[in-house]
Amino acid sequence: MRKIQMVDLQSQYEFIKEKVNNSITEVLESAAFINGPEVHNFQKELEAYLGVKHVIPCANGTDALQIAMMGLDLKPGDEVITVDFTFAATVEVIGLLQLTPVLVDVEPDTFNMDVDALKKAITPKTKAIVPVHLFGQCANMEAIMEIAEAHNLYVIEDNAQAIGADYTFKNGTTKKAGTMGDVGATSFFPSKNLGCYGDGGAIFTNNDELAHTLRGIVNHGMYERYHHDVVGVNSRLDSIQAAVLRAKLPLLDSYNQKRRDAARKYTASLKDNKHIITPRLNAPCGKDRICDTCNCHVFHQYTLRITNGKRDALVKFLNDSGIPCGVYYPIPLHLQKAYRDDRYNEGDFTVTNLLVKEVVSLPMHTELDDDQILFITDKIKEFLD
Ligand SMILES: *Cc1c(COP(=O)(O)O)cnc(C)c1O
Repeated sequence: MRKIQMVDLQSQYEFIKEKVNNSITEVLESAAFINGPEVHNFQKELEAYLGVKHVIPCANGTDALQIAMMGLDLKPGDEVITVDFTFAATVEVIGLLQLTPVLVDVEPDTFNMDVDALKKAITPKTKAIVPVHLFGQCANMEAIMEIAEAHNLYVIEDNAQAIGADYTFKNGTTKKAGTMGDVGATSFFPSKNLGCYGDGGAIFTNNDELAHTLRGIVNHGMYERYHHDVVGVNSRLDSIQAAVLRAKLPLLDSYNQKRRDAARKYTASLKDNKHIITPRLNAPCGKDRICDTCNCHVFHQYTLRITNGKRDALVKFLNDSGIPCGVYYPIPLHLQKAYRDDRYNEGDFTVTNLLVKEVVSLPMHTELDDDQILFITDKIKEFLD
């Protein structure tokens, strides 16, 4: 059996080596390192894949979130609601822009924004909602979009973990994650579902005017050369990264399918253990299982809840058995020094406070084989039984 890795980018590279090496060589020979044709072509290809009018490539996912917010009509002190259970980048950019982050709890089964908590957190100062499509599955966008419309709020989707996932509305329409709100942001960090070989990110929107604004912000607020109309940033996707992404984008659906296959095998093996809660799908078919037809979860992470209080001991046991695993995330954001706020009550975060003690994410990537999955699930059962 090959060594088990949390993410296996070497094996994935072996399959696309020739294509990637050739396109990188072309960039090197053309010397069009910044804003070259690779970046433009990738932008167009991603727009077509997502079915979104505008993709604005940028330097990383954190910048993508920040620039998305800079492009909206938000002022210091405006409240922006996001979740307590996410990577810090989501709330960091809200703070950096001197907006006021308001953290809310998540659902215990999907790990995504709790819509009732969202409703309760809205005040006259609320201006935007940032749902995070955590671990590869969309938040409840049907409800979130309705609430946003009723209260006239912007929706900025943090889609760093769910690129390629579909969301199906009650009326049957299906949209790609990141393309439903006013603006979406994603990351091409190497371990993300669509990762480059360095840092990269992108912003998505269907709004022509906003797209124009954002294209200026990523480039020093310039709309005409050396005319700076707004305060911008320097945030570019470089051509070499775009070349890697162009090689990988046509494979994204098959990559996501491989992740789903691995997830299905994990769940089949672990679902009956009384100390384990396997991931719940918010599938349009209503079936809480991982099927071939739905694309509602792309398993950036495959995350279990260990309910007998032995999560940390299990992590140690797995690590000692040669199985890497991760705890995403071990500390709620509302308890992080940088994001404490006197207005919060511990009682408002009961789910996140529990999840941080129970969650464990298993190895998940496109090259997991059956032997490895069997070894991992056997070890987990050996420990918990
Ligand atoms: C990875 C990630 C980001 C940030 O992306 P970077 O490219 O690393 O800046 C933001 N939000 C979430 C939920 C992420 O997982």
